Amino acid sequence: MNYTTKVKKVVIVGGGTAGWMAAASFSKLLGNSIEVTLVESEEIATVGVGEATVPPLILLNRYLDINEQEFMTAVKGSIKLGISFENWGNIGERYIHPFGYTGKDTWAASFQHFWRRGLDIGVNYPLGDYCLEYAAALQNKFAHMPNSALTYAYHIDAGFYAKFLRNIAEKSGATRIEGKVEEVILDSAQHIQSIRLASGAIIEGDLFIDCSGFRALLIGQALHTGFEDWTHWLPCDSALAVQVESTREPVPYTRAIAHRAGWRWEIPLQHRVGTGVVYCNRYMSDDEAQKTLLEQIEGRPIAEPKIIRFKAGQRLKYWNKNCVALGLASGFIEPLESTSIHMIQRGITRLIQMFPHDGIRACDIDEYNAQMKTEVVTIRDFVIMHYHLTARDDSAFWRYCKNMPIPESLEHRIRLFRETGKIFVESPYKLFAEPSWLNVMVGQGVIPERHHVVANEMTETELKKFLEEHRHYVKQTVQKMPSHHDYLQYYCKAGDWN
Ligand SMILES: Cc1cc2nc3c(=O)[nH]c(=O)nc-3n(C[C@H](O)[C@H](O)[C@H](O)COP(=O)(O)OP(=O)(O)OC[C@H]3O[C@@H](n4cnc5c(N)ncnc54)[C@H](O)[C@@H]3O)c2cc1C
Repeated sequence: MNYTTKVKKVVIVGGGTAGWMAAASFSKLLGNSIEVTLVESEEIATVGVGEATVPPLILLNRYLDINEQEFMTAVKGSIKLGISFENWGNIGERYIHPFGYTGKDTWAASFQHFWRRGLDIGVNYPLGDYCLEYAAALQNKFAHMPNSALTYAYHIDAGFYAKFLRNIAEKSGATRIEGKVEEVILDSAQHIQSIRLASGAIIEGDLFIDCSGFRALLIGQALHTGFEDWTHWLPCDSALAVQVESTREPVPYTRAIAHRAGWRWEIPLQHRVGTGVVYCNRYMSDDEAQKTLLEQIEGRPIAEPKIIRFKAGQRLKYWNKNCVALGLASGFIEPLESTSIHMIQRGITRLIQMFPHDGIRACDIDEYNAQMKTEVVTIRDFVIMHYHLTARDDSAFWRYCKNMPIPESLEHRIRLFRETGKIFVESPYKLFAEPSWLNVMVGQGVIPERHHVVANEMTETELKKFLEEHRHYVKQTVQKMPSHHDYLQYYCKAGDWN
């Protein structure tokens, strides 16, 4: 059913990363047509994590006219060239999932086919030797290189990021209201008419954005939008997060270190390290998780560890009636590949593309929901793959992951790569393109059984030369880069911005 009221008043509930990303984007990009109000409550803390990002955040920064140096200084940020996965395939093994390209492709066959044939003729260098981001990460290097640009993302302090965005939002005309939402008032068609705050104030709106985090006050509690549960594929359901003092220079990658019932993250910022364990409560108690965390961290904790419970899955509708959910209110695929902030960004940019100025139409809602689901399901498969492609047999958790049935779409992708070396990522909304799937599959021990015949068009000598030239280019380029730490000092040394 269509809802013909013109959309002028947008009300955002929640002032975490999702709320302020939405407020900054809507007010900056649509501020002449709509009024943006954000309601948040100082009584209710934000989730307080969410500090590793993926490269498309650079695009959002561009849309918002954000100067990168100011941004990185304000969020006390560091560079992320990928994620170091430790103990995932087997205990003691490590690989990096790098951003950017690995090797050079031809239109007929991607780089892995040439690399795979190389193995047959005795060229045994790891894939990472052919990837700038991989090699730079391993050597703790970074620079903005004019002719060999690295693909990168950021590590950010979530609290400073929200403040930074709030500044942009308020300068662009958004209004912030402090207050706790106590009631969501629906009209006779079950659309949201207004929200009532603890102060008694009533805030009316045409379109409501639910950024209230796991509480999902509007989309879940008021509109009863169902939830698709993915815990049978992504069994981790708890995290214990803590911030610690830095004990060394920040590395340009996130660390994801597997333990016996999940993994631990390490996100190095300029002023501290964000860390925590993600675990499956069925296989690890909270006390054991705390012990695992405290045994492994290097720096002194700055605050008490905090337990966060979650459930992997998505809302059956991201947009329901006159409410769009962003961030944790819309679902969560656990933090392994740091994709949640990205999906907030995708939700915002998609909603702007489809913005219902003239009234909310069912066809817009259906299109929005279909696109969000296609995108999230591909990311979901990618994350499941990390758990499933393990050789670990040392705990009940890893045995479950190794043997669990996986989505057919993923089963097919792994089989295709294993048997033929081919990877196709056809979705137009792909966050993780072919090189990402390649690096994770190879990193976790899947070596294709054969290569594409195009790789045989080169003689052995030509193939060796082709591989060696690219490896040499990567080596030489990385050699010229300064250390990540020196670059941060020069480019964006964190000051006392607030
Ligand atoms: C362990 C863990 C690690 C993560 N790591 C990453 C990562 O590395 N990268 C990444 O992209 N994502 C990560 N995420 C996800 C990321 O944290 C979130 O996507 C992001 O912080 C957005 O959260 P949010 O704004 O939806 O919710 P929240 O931060 O929880 O904000 C909710 C807001 O709603 C307000 N609110 C709630 N109830 C009311 C009420 N009744 N009245 C008024 N206001 C109310 C609160 O005050 C708050 O302002 C991680 C998540 C977890 C659990």
